[in-house]
Amino acid sequence: MQKLIEIEPFTEITPTAPISREMHGGRAKCLQRLIRLDMPVPKTVALSFATIRAIATGQLPDIKGILDLFDDNALLSVRPSSLVSDWGGPGAILNIGMTTRRHAEISNLLGPDAADALYRRFVTSYAVDVSRLDPELFHAEDSLRDLQDAYMAETDEPFPEDPERQLAEVLRSMSKAWESTTARLLRQAKGAPADAGLGLVVQQMALGVGPAESGSGVIQFVDPNTGTLQIKGRYLSQSQGRDALQRAEGALFLTKDPRGPSLEEREPAIFAELCAHGETCRTRLREEMSIEFTVQAGALRVLDAVRVQRTSRADVAIAVALAEDQIISKDEAVMRIEPTALNELLHRQVHPDARRDVLMRGIAASPGAATGRIVFSSRAAQQSAAREEPCILVRRETLPEDVRGMHAASGVLTMRGGMTSHAAVIARGLGVPCVVGAIGIKLDRREKTLTTEDGRTLREGDMITLDGSRGEALAGEVELYEPAINGAFQTLLGWADTVRDIGIRANADTPAEARTAQMFNAGGIGLCRTEHMFFDEERLIVMREMIFADKAEDRSAVLDRLLPMQRADFITLFDIMRGQPVCIRLLDPPLHEFLPTGREALRELAEALDLPIATVTSRVEALAEFNPMLGMRGVRLGISIPEIYEMQARAIFEATVESHRSGAPTAPEIMIPLVSVKREVEMVKTRIDAVAAAVRTETGADFDYKVGVMVETPRAALRADDIASQSAFLSFGTNDLTQMAYGLSRDDASRFMNAYVNQGVFSEDPFHRLDIVGVGELLKIGAERGRTSRPDIVLSICGEHAGDPDSIAFCRAVGFDYVSCSPYRVPVARLAAARLAIADRTNDALV
Ligand code: PEP
Ligand code: MG
Repeated sequence: MQKLIEIEPFTEITPTAPISREMHGGRAKCLQRLIRLDMPVPKTVALSFATIRAIATGQLPDIKGILDLFDDNALLSVRPSSLVSDWGGPGAILNIGMTTRRHAEISNLLGPDAADALYRRFVTSYAVDVSRLDPELFHAEDSLRDLQDAYMAETDEPFPEDPERQLAEVLRSMSKAWESTTARLLRQAKGAPADAGLGLVVQQMALGVGPAESGSGVIQFVDPNTGTLQIKGRYLSQSQGRDALQRAEGALFLTKDPRGPSLEEREPAIFAELCAHGETCRTRLREEMSIEFTVQAGALRVLDAVRVQRTSRADVAIAVALAEDQIISKDEAVMRIEPTALNELLHRQVHPDARRDVLMRGIAASPGAATGRIVFSSRAAQQSAAREEPCILVRRETLPEDVRGMHAASGVLTMRGGMTSHAAVIARGLGVPCVVGAIGIKLDRREKTLTTEDGRTLREGDMITLDGSRGEALAGEVELYEPAINGAFQTLLGWADTVRDIGIRANADTPAEARTAQMFNAGGIGLCRTEHMFFDEERLIVMREMIFADKAEDRSAVLDRLLPMQRADFITLFDIMRGQPVCIRLLDPPLHEFLPTGREALRELAEALDLPIATVTSRVEALAEFNPMLGMRGVRLGISIPEIYEMQARAIFEATVESHRSGAPTAPEIMIPLVSVKREVEMVKTRIDAVAAAVRTETGADFDYKVGVMVETPRAALRADDIASQSAFLSFGTNDLTQMAYGLSRDDASRFMNAYVNQGVFSEDPFHRLDIVGVGELLKIGAERGRTSRPDIVLSICGEHAGDPDSIAFCRAVGFDYVSCSPYRVPVARLAAARLAIADRTNDALV
């Protein structure tokens, strides 16, 4: 015999009954709140998670006791009540208790049509959902006799006449449905724990059918897509449950509408009562609710209210409106919005109702959506932009020379690469939707075709839609949503800024990015990668001349031509940033990145430089490195060819002098990349100081500046005390630091990253989420040791992790001064930082 476990008693929901969300689920708790607010909720009983678990093991609560609580002859409904409504659950079953006798009574009272409709609905859902019979055989439109006959034919017994048995079977089937593998997987995908429980509510039915005005409907007071105040919903006479939403035909609009009759006109008193309940929900439950209601012979019953399902943009608008109306505090509004939800407001999005024909999947590297025609080269992207035709640039991977093509494209799709690959980093900076690592697809550059995993071939010029938020490419032109970065968005972030206690800067290399940083109220630029300033076609050729210069004086002559260009860049940047801090990183990548590959391109370069192709080829070969990421780059370049950094320092200082003249003086921060020993810093800093002195003398102007170090090698973190003695600031470049701590390449890791994450070797891609226990340890050590030798040293992080809320929490806990992320991640970072400060304050208040 099965061992009996104690079954919790069922609980009638009254204002004072011991109902909790943790024991009975969200719906039961919400119904109690509605009852406390004096809403006309029919009598309801809650069955706890423990009760339903016991039912799943074969036991039953006191069914007769439950039935005795309700009016004689009442019909009942049973609905699920899980901890989080999003976790799903079995569908509602209505009209339990319907029997031949009851049918006759209702027929006398409300007419045979009404009685039949109720019974047919019950037989149908009982047959399909409780007895698990073939849904093809049961349709609520069939006659009652046919339905009963079909039930008999399938089960060899008449439709059950005993309300106790009916209710018991409904409860059993619902507890079983909750335990099914599919239901479990679905809710776990939505974040439910493996042992999530189901509660149920048994409610007396308000019938919604009968001679006087009867029906059912759903009403809410906001638009679920935008969050603006607007009455939405339907009402259908002679109906039950959510029929009004499912059967538009014959349904009434709620408010007056030129398209047809409305509840407001037909039943003004009921409409007014509903509006009053909506307002009560808003002010007392402090939430926008969707109310499910029934009208029974002219009397309103509120059956249920659930939080309005909404898009992120509506969520922001609703939280801000509630705070502006002083229903919730500003802090609470900030706490209600998940930071990453802002991504949906910052970029175009695929419309939630759009049909998605997925062509390929990859890593969601830069959020937002774009539609355009496929192009396979940067040149084609630029030509397309010149014709004002949106395009999606498809490449195996992007190279630095693709930056202009990426600028021109509406979206970027690559077969290779991970979250910190070139394509991903640049696309995020530009705010261009991007999917990388779409490894399943084949690219034939010669034929200009793309073959998807399921064998579909796409050609240049074919229209696709890229969804960088989900990491998918969709066939054709799909309906998109525009960004929503005004109004509520700005208000919410303004509130966030008043509470946060860590600085947020942006990584910005171009004037456009700097303007985006300003638009999102970044506290300055935390990383300006100067190499991106050399990829402009005109500059690239000068850069290449510099690389090909054999003698120091030739090199110096070319650098003299680059100087005014760089100076102009910084003047523009300082001008846009109007005196806010700007941290400029000296040239970082290996020089070969500025050189072309492929015979055709080499020939073109030879022509442009007026050199024999053999010379060009051998120079390119000489610069090639087996592992350029660990090669002649960063400060190593600065030590080996000091003139480059000197030119950059001069351009920065001359632009600084200019900023003083323009009335928004800048105190630039100059950052040395890829440092591993103190002597590197000393040597470069000495030269920078000398250039500053020279510019001061030449111009007669005085200015401030700082020199600091980018901590990107494990050794720099370990020797941060040494290095800090020469640096005003340390900025942790966690992209390279992750690469070097793990010994894996940023650009190639995608080959095995999926397998690693799927098999749980890495819990997450460490280029995506900061590896707090490993790389984070290096950050902690670096910060502590840096502070030991220089207590006032400014600490920050500027790798891609800086925009991630968990990394921000870590940096804040370690006492960093600021984080610096892609401009489009600045709003997310501002909100995440504010929420951390509020959560700390709340916890402190509780202690
Ligand atoms: C880093 O390494 O973290 C960084 C910000 O620099 P980059 O991505 O340019 O190498
Ligand atoms: Mg780096």
